[in-house]
Amino acid sequence: MDLKEKIRVIEDFPQKGISFKDITTLIKDGKAFRRVIKSMADLVRHKEADLVVAPEARGFIIGAPIAYELGAGFVPIRKNGKLPGETIRVEYKLEYGIDIIEMHKDAIKPGQKVIVADDLLATGGTIFSTIELVERLGGEISAAIFLIELTDINGRENLSEYDVFSLIKY
Ligand code: AMP
Repeated sequence: MDLKEKIRVIEDFPQKGISFKDITTLIKDGKAFRRVIKSMADLVRHKEADLVVAPEARGFIIGAPIAYELGAGFVPIRKNGKLPGETIRVEYKLEYGIDIIEMHKDAIKPGQKVIVADDLLATGGTIFSTIELVERLGGEISAAIFLIELTDINGRENLSEYDVFSLIKY
């Protein structure tokens, strides 16, 4: 099965110059979705993981089933004002726009091993901010995993001190 073929590429969305990788066409295919989660989990199975941490919204689609597959817990990173408990926050820059993300203050205990996950690595800004939140609470990053990596943007360089894995490269 060619998983890359299942991803729909839409040019100039959400703004001119962005080649948007739409994973909805992949995840609606049960076999492809299962293959993706299994393959991504296999890439990091050798890593210690108490928790998988992922940013909304597409990070949840990928991160939660990987956590389930690894037998780890799942911690959601949410946009400003969505989490009900006490939070820590960071402002971050996207390939398009600026945002604030938050995590519950009691989500991670110092020394816990964490895998961060998202659907796509572009500049690395989103995952870097996610990592910042994890590390502020004393979590230790054991890996970063992505379904898709945009290699020409070179987000991997921003993450050079971490073990980075991705399944599909553009
Ligand atoms: P970045 O922070 O630059 O690494 O961007 C990654 C985040 O933005 C991910 O959460 C993606 O969902 C989203 N994103 C950035 N660029 C694209 C793209 N070309 N296609 C789809 N999603 C993207």
